[in-house]
Amino acid sequence: MIDSSILQDKKAAYFTLGCKLNFAETSTIGQNLKAYGVQTVQKGQQADICIINTCSVTEVADQKCRQAIRRLVRSHPHALVIVTGCYAQLQPQQISEMPGVDLVFGTDRKGDIIPAIMQKLSEHSEYTDHSSSFPFFPSCSHGDRTRYFLKVQDGCNYFCTYCTIPLARGRSRNGSIQSLVEQARNVAQEGGREIVITGVNIGDFGRTTGETFLQLIQQLDQVEGIDRYRISSIEPNLLTDEIIDFCAHSRHFMPHFHIPLQSGSDHVLQLMHRRYDTALFRHRIEHIKQLMPHCFIGVDVIVGTRGETAEHFEESRQFIQSLPISQLHVFSYSERPGTRALQIPHIVSPQEKHERSQQLLALSDEKLRQFYTAHIGQTRPVLIEHAPRTKPMHGFTDNYIRVEIPNTPALAGNIQNVTLGDFTTTGDALTGIL
Ligand code: SF4
Repeated sequence: MIDSSILQDKKAAYFTLGCKLNFAETSTIGQNLKAYGVQTVQKGQQADICIINTCSVTEVADQKCRQAIRRLVRSHPHALVIVTGCYAQLQPQQISEMPGVDLVFGTDRKGDIIPAIMQKLSEHSEYTDHSSSFPFFPSCSHGDRTRYFLKVQDGCNYFCTYCTIPLARGRSRNGSIQSLVEQARNVAQEGGREIVITGVNIGDFGRTTGETFLQLIQQLDQVEGIDRYRISSIEPNLLTDEIIDFCAHSRHFMPHFHIPLQSGSDHVLQLMHRRYDTALFRHRIEHIKQLMPHCFIGVDVIVGTRGETAEHFEESRQFIQSLPISQLHVFSYSERPGTRALQIPHIVSPQEKHERSQQLLALSDEKLRQFYTAHIGQTRPVLIEHAPRTKPMHGFTDNYIRVEIPNTPALAGNIQNVTLGDFTTTGDALTGIL
């Protein structure tokens, strides 16, 4: 039996031709799908499911139906396309041969549409629901004795078109706030000073327990003994203004965010099925900088995804350049079997990918240098990490600037106010003056 939760959070587009009865029937299908958690697509969004209810009263009507099908297939290239109604009843063969059409139902089978959608989605590997077969395994590891990584969430329900993580790791799930707070207390007892909150899509925290990410960080902030929290990476649509406001005024959350942008072109973001546009991304960055002008912001970008023309890349590069961010993490797109991105026709050559990647890496260096340079002469708290006796010691400021200090074993594991000097000879840190 197919789990109906496969429909949860899907978006559907509806298009009706013909008589009032058709309109009424489309509305019924829409209401039934809504009961399973399917939302109606909004202007500018990509649909996961398209339903076209056709009419066949004249040859002109048939023609309009074919045009509408072609238009919807073009506008929603990754959607499951279902055609029903009179034209589908009379010419099922003709319609099923149209590119992009997945299912055809005559008027006598409209009642079968929803089970067939569930069936089709579950056959489609990208949508396979792994939630029941992947339990949440709590995990808290430490890099050295100062910084711990607390996994609060696993899996992802987003299905970005280039990504296989939902296939590999299953649906979004999480530990309870109570259990995670307990783990944070254990870290404090072991002498840990800093916790990095990790997961696959951590802003989606709460699918299992009905809690929210904001509630989680509010509770963690109260744990005695943990001086610093960092949020590892959070989707821009889920990094709400409330979360930013809380971090800005919290006791222990550091002025440091890592946010995946992936592309600064709205067209490419749509092809990727990302859930935000560049306007929202800019708003998030500006909101952070307004409240925390010294905040470090790292941003992920993918270059050379299918569909990213030279113009889209340039648009993306200019968008990124205009943002007050601190560093880029640049990834070259690679083809992954089973992903919907493989259906996008335009392919970027390896050489072009390399060139784009080099351009963004140079931009990242420039941004990071600017960020570091602006802090020279400031005094900031640094959590000093353990190091072999013969080597200089390192640590990070609250806002994630890497600092090098002379080897002083007594300081290992301590938070020390350090005045920031110029760049070290390696150029990847500032020299710290104790
Ligand atoms: S890119 Fe991130 S949000 Fe998108 S499907 Fe993969 S894990 Fe989920």
